[in-house]
Amino acid sequence: MTRKSAPYLFLGQTTSLCETCLNLVPAKIIAEGSDVFYQKRCREHGVQKTLISDDLTYWKSQQDWLKPGDRPLSPQTRTDHGCPFDCGLCPDHEQHSCLAILEINEACNLTCPVCFADSSVKRETHRSLEEVERMLDTLVASEGEPDLVQISGGEPTLHPQFFEILAAARRRPIRHLMINTNGLRIAREAGFAERLRAFTPRFEVYLQFDSLKRDALMALRGADLSQVRIQALEALERANISTTLVVTLKKGVNDAEIADIVRFALKWRCVRGVTFQPIQDAGRNEGFDPNKDRIVLTEIRRRIAEAGVFALNDLIPLPCNPDQICIGYGLRNGETVQPITALLPRDLIVAAAPNTVTFEAFPQLRTAVFNLLSLSTAQADTSEKLAEVLCCLPQAAVPDDLAYEHTFRVVISQFLDRYNFDLGTVKRSCVHFVEPDGRIIPFDTYNTFYRPGAEGASVLAQGKAPA
Ligand code: SF4
Ligand code: SF4
Repeated sequence: MTRKSAPYLFLGQTTSLCETCLNLVPAKIIAEGSDVFYQKRCREHGVQKTLISDDLTYWKSQQDWLKPGDRPLSPQTRTDHGCPFDCGLCPDHEQHSCLAILEINEACNLTCPVCFADSSVKRETHRSLEEVERMLDTLVASEGEPDLVQISGGEPTLHPQFFEILAAARRRPIRHLMINTNGLRIAREAGFAERLRAFTPRFEVYLQFDSLKRDALMALRGADLSQVRIQALEALERANISTTLVVTLKKGVNDAEIADIVRFALKWRCVRGVTFQPIQDAGRNEGFDPNKDRIVLTEIRRRIAEAGVFALNDLIPLPCNPDQICIGYGLRNGETVQPITALLPRDLIVAAAPNTVTFEAFPQLRTAVFNLLSLSTAQADTSEKLAEVLCCLPQAAVPDDLAYEHTFRVVISQFLDRYNFDLGTVKRSCVHFVEPDGRIIPFDTYNTFYRPGAEGASVLAQGKAPA
């Protein structure tokens, strides 16, 4: 008898979720060729094997980009039942709210087949202005000066006090304000985009933009929004409002368009970048088949590189949350982009305080950027703006719209769900929901366990039950 070697490389062990009952289960991390899987074992539902990356080299490199976490001023809950039952944020959480989301309503003017918030035209509720103000105060108490607040919903522009809410946010020490919208009101209502201008600079529209094609829009949004998207972009361009295109990705539906969308984005002066988000299996997710609909971060990264704007080595793990977010930063002049992430040493990017970056230390970068933007050395104060571009959160990029016009970024933001949940990674989650009851809950645990109606609610209740 001869001993056999395992048909895989054992990389380690973590805690994930059973894909059927959502209970915490042990997961072996294994590699087969370039693919990385979680092999989970649930006592009730057996063994499950889930792809989490198709690029072992990149997956291993994620650890090399880690930087020390930036903690909130104070936690909102105690460490008591253990993660993920103590959200939040509990003292065990390793990252502050880089991006804080406030959902101000459930009402929407679409009923998308894919909606983690389960909003629809049948929902009518809006949070009161007072409630939203309390949520803003919760965040300010936790963060001091929040980096980025996203007003979301439902469809936030439908809120009867939408502009009062933006004004309330502006009265607080929030660095960057963003609205997360499907763009219908911006496209259809004359003067709406101009009204948003009152909140600039440091204001941005996070515009749902999944596809350039009718079939994909029907599959993801239940409506052919191609014209609406163009009209919204035209209105935002006229009003000169910084805009990020947000692409929800479903394999086989719109992943073939990734490179096209990056190139399309560069045709718009107001567009500062594109964020790609693979579907998180939470809320309403009609007909989702994990075996064919999931797409992993590393595949999206390769597809972005096919656009020819960023090379693979320009697309790096985000240091505060390298497992979930990949970024590529560039400076643009019209449709020409000079990627900058690969021009800087990794040690500098992962340093605790990257704001010390100066062009003088990096002549190659300085030359490339000055050539691109036709800047003279007399304008060398751009170094300060570059430091802001390198903030750990891509959206919180620059101090004013003038400099911001020169930036272009791509972001892949992969949220955790029943398939790729990882108890270590979730502690670094930096995208958080602010709740009216004073809690701040990571995006990943909120949609899986804490959102009213979430499938993991019973697991949460058991986890919190006295032993
Ligand atoms: S996800 Fe974060 S806030 Fe929630 S229980 Fe775990 S460590 Fe605490
Ligand atoms: S995904 Fe957005 S636009 Fe679609 S139903 Fe949900 S909240 Fe409305």
